[in-house]
Amino acid sequence: MAGAARGELSTPEVADQLRALGVQLGGVLLVHTSFRAVRPVEGGPAGLIRALQAALGPDGTLVMLSSAADDDVPFDPATMAVTPDLGVVADTFWRLPGVMRSDHPFAFAAAGAQAAQITADPLPLPPHIPESPVGRVYDLNGQVLLLGVGHDVNTTVHLAELLFGVPYAVPRYCTVLQGGRPVRVDYLENDHCTERFALVEAWLQERGLQREGPVGHARARLMRARDVVDGALALLAGDPLVFLHPSSAACVQCDAARSSVNAPRVGT
Ligand SMILES: [Zn+2]
Repeated sequence: MAGAARGELSTPEVADQLRALGVQLGGVLLVHTSFRAVRPVEGGPAGLIRALQAALGPDGTLVMLSSAADDDVPFDPATMAVTPDLGVVADTFWRLPGVMRSDHPFAFAAAGAQAAQITADPLPLPPHIPESPVGRVYDLNGQVLLLGVGHDVNTTVHLAELLFGVPYAVPRYCTVLQGGRPVRVDYLENDHCTERFALVEAWLQERGLQREGPVGHARARLMRARDVVDGALALLAGDPLVFLHPSSAACVQCDAARSSVNAPRVGT
């Protein structure tokens, strides 16, 4: 109800919602969330993280994006805040005791049984190759939880783009330490506005592969990473540019990706 105060849900209530949705006990769970949609819950962002870990149990693994915003300075996993668009839950998670974080600017953070395996890879270029945290979640048959956010933030679709071999890639760079000195590293990334990742939702829904329900006060969507990849690969097989806006939409980011298709590649 618009304007109505929302009651605070307790940690056990949120954990029950997560179990009812289908979060797998002992599994690997990659969470994308907007706390604004979820709140209020007991304990704030840290309380939501406790509820996620309670639903996963002691043998489970909780995973979140944990990348930093600044392309111009080397990443420091011990001190650097996450990029603001990842939200307060992601920025709370990596600071908690026992949480591991990748040692590169496209970092993910993870806690639990598989955390070391998920965060161990060196700098992945481009960021969502199979030898990256999102690739490891896929390898481990993990689940993806979109909690108060849509498929536009579903990073696993970027993995599928690379597995497919999409023909677009735009120039990006990051800065890493080499021999104690900052060095700029240029690379090409399958990047664009990602709005059309929403097409994966219908593919999953038509096949009963997306669970939906409330978590906190948010709408939650739960799916297997493997099903996300299967759906994205099926869509790409029909049209390799399916995730780019058409030229008529005048989307600056998708147009940049589109115009890269026939451009010569750096280093080739
Ligand atoms: Zn676009």
